Amino acid sequence: MDGIIAAWGKILRGIKPNLSIEITRECPLRCPGCYAYGEDHLEGGVTLRSLADYKGDELVARVKTLVEEHDPLHLSIIGGEPLVRFRELGQILPWLAERGVYTNLVTSAVRPIPIEWAALDRLLIAVSIDGLQPEHDARRKPATYDRILKHIAGHHVTVHCTVTRQIAQRPGYLEEFVRFWSEQPTTRKIWFSLYTPQVGEVSDERLDEADRLRVASEIDALGPKYPKLEASKRMLEGLVRPPLSPEECIFARTTHCLSADLETVVSPCQLGGNPDCASCGCLAAAALAAVGRYRLPGGIPVHRMFDWSEAVGRQVARVRAIGKPAAASGPRRTIPVRAVSD
Ligand code: SF4
Ligand code: SF4
Repeated sequence: MDGIIAAWGKILRGIKPNLSIEITRECPLRCPGCYAYGEDHLEGGVTLRSLADYKGDELVARVKTLVEEHDPLHLSIIGGEPLVRFRELGQILPWLAERGVYTNLVTSAVRPIPIEWAALDRLLIAVSIDGLQPEHDARRKPATYDRILKHIAGHHVTVHCTVTRQIAQRPGYLEEFVRFWSEQPTTRKIWFSLYTPQVGEVSDERLDEADRLRVASEIDALGPKYPKLEASKRMLEGLVRPPLSPEECIFARTTHCLSADLETVVSPCQLGGNPDCASCGCLAAAALAAVGRYRLPGGIPVHRMFDWSEAVGRQVARVRAIGKPAAASGPRRTIPVRAVSD
């Protein structure tokens, strides 16, 4: 409840309560369907690989400054592959924990996750595991099952599987996956997202309406049998009925997303580009959509209150901007592109 009140307070002041950072442009994987390296992920003809990124003390200092400026309640650290910067994260993550920031680190576990991170408060480590071993290893090598199992030893991670059409069409597949990962002592929770395509995308990964309904009903049926599986009715309802546009998406509207130069904004949401919201399978968007549909006493849906609060926040931000130096409200800076020597 404290978190909701704090988030609401920020929205009323015109501030997005969540921050998401692509902490590096580097990744040793080449996953099919990866949105981060798509040509359209960022605007203006810029790609993630062409951006400046930082390392060492400079990265640590810049992330700390960013967090101090935005003061997020929740921070997502994504990539690229965040573990490429494990040394820097070894300084950043304990600092975030001490500051009270809830942090979600999304990784392929392609290299060992430092064991000292297991003791950090408010840190959730989500490991992307896209199906059972044969399919996962084919898509995500060198982050294979064997490596993941070694690299997460001693941790309690959230297993996050993005369901593609190839997986959705195989009877019994989801249960086999949930059974395997439920049995691992290193698994804290199991999350399923659905593959989110770009508008007009034609791909093997893209699910159709019937696939989405079938997957949601399978997850629903598995929930009572596997307590580690996240299968709340509201979240599943959000997956089946995603927001229809970024303007309707509470997740996009409450999360400020930055790419690897820590300046370029990723919009409309973490996915960037022109995502097909009507086919969105993002778990965070689904969960917040479900919250938005919840009706308060008197019958008013939460998203109406959210719209109202956001409008107030915009006014407050406008008033705050008056009197600030012109640069603060001027056009966005051009993106410095510099080479990174590895
Ligand atoms: S691990 Fe993530 S960032 Fe790297 S290629 Fe795969 S999907 Fe893209
Ligand atoms: S999270 Fe999903 S619904 Fe929200 S803006 Fe992105 S694609 Fe659209």
